[in-house]
Amino acid sequence: MTTTAILSALGEEQQGLLERLQHSEKSNHAGRDFWRGELHGQPVVLALSRIGKVAAATTATALIEHFGAGRIVFTGVAGGVGEGVQVGDVVVADEFIQHDMDASPIFPRYEVPLYGKTRFACDAGLSRLLLQASRAGLDSLALPSRTLLHHGLVASGDRFVSGARESHTLRSSLQQGGHEVLAVEMEGAAVAQVCFDYGVPFAAVRTISDRADDTAHVDFPVFVRDVASLYAQEIVRHFLGLLPKR
Ligand code: SAH
Repeated sequence: MTTTAILSALGEEQQGLLERLQHSEKSNHAGRDFWRGELHGQPVVLALSRIGKVAAATTATALIEHFGAGRIVFTGVAGGVGEGVQVGDVVVADEFIQHDMDASPIFPRYEVPLYGKTRFACDAGLSRLLLQASRAGLDSLALPSRTLLHHGLVASGDRFVSGARESHTLRSSLQQGGHEVLAVEMEGAAVAQVCFDYGVPFAAVRTISDRADDTAHVDFPVFVRDVASLYAQEIVRHFLGLLPKR
């Protein structure tokens, strides 16, 4: 059976998954902890990406090279920047862009040099399953009906975006380049790029923890502990249930 790697950014998000992991076996590699085991009948390896693009790329590479991950799924939180993307909503990524990539004028703004690419796509099939699992997960949590599930472009960069002005500038600069972005976080685009390099399917879901504005740092910690971890557990449970049994 294909081993599914489940990456979380923060320990609080991973805790619920760890508690349910069966036959768990912990190991340390590249200065990180990894937990192999079985979750809802599927072989998995759980890891923390750590924060930021480089850390996330190292973790993703280790998952593929050392732990034989055949697919990677990311669950985490993000700041909502798109119109109508509110705290408590869920975003399933279809593509990622690095909002802080700028090798202009040698390469067009946002283009990753030598790839000839600006956006890295998630695996379509895996993302469809994750969307289905997110819908089912949200339904099972009996959330307020205003909770929305979005699907689209997510931007990553090495900044915690916590200012209304910064968030607005980030969004409008991306818009000028033809990129309509739903959410901002710090790891997804790096994992997407590593998965592209290795040809490993990748999908990502982010719960909106803040609006990337002046109150972002206030909303963030409580939300991760009380809300996002529950979302992650429910979505992962449904997702693993949808995967092939062999
Ligand atoms: N204070 C936290 C640090 C979190 S950094 C701590 O104690 O660990 C923010 C994390 O959440 C990153 O992993 C990032 O991917 C995501 N995130 C949530 N909101 C974000 C925002 N507004 N801007 C950038 N990343 C955000």
